[in-house]
Amino acid sequence: MSDLDRVGDADGWRCWLCDAPVDPDASVNADLGPSVDSFGVAKGKKGGASAERLAHRACNTMKGKIAPVVPWAEHLLVAEPAPIVETVERLSRKGGRELVARCMSEDDAAEASEWLLDRLSRFAPGMKFETQVKPGGGQFMVMLSVTT
Ligand SMILES: [Zn+2]
Repeated sequence: MSDLDRVGDADGWRCWLCDAPVDPDASVNADLGPSVDSFGVAKGKKGGASAERLAHRACNTMKGKIAPVVPWAEHLLVAEPAPIVETVERLSRKGGRELVARCMSEDDAAEASEWLLDRLSRFAPGMKFETQVKPGGGQFMVMLSVTT
């Protein structure tokens, strides 16, 4: 089994950055073709994601030369969404809890929480997260913490 197949299987043939499916049969020279990205979240640190991830060729960070960006889903109604990659990296080092988004309604906050936990289950499969929604200042704050 090639490295690409191993990493692709581990990541369920989804791009670790944009979360869209990657076609295992696409040409490795195509922009949307499969590639191994050797940039890992908290590389080599406990609980961090593995250092080899599946990415579309166009999304690949080229071993970290391009800063990885994980966008929040466009349908979510969130204000001041925190940068996901940096937040996860910090939580993997320091633990604790961080404010990741503010929402106008409790429903929006619940939806954002659910989306984020699902997204993180693929972005950082080696870590376990939980969210809390806290009302404050007429808004609902989504807090993210790491549990292991
Ligand atoms: Zn991608």
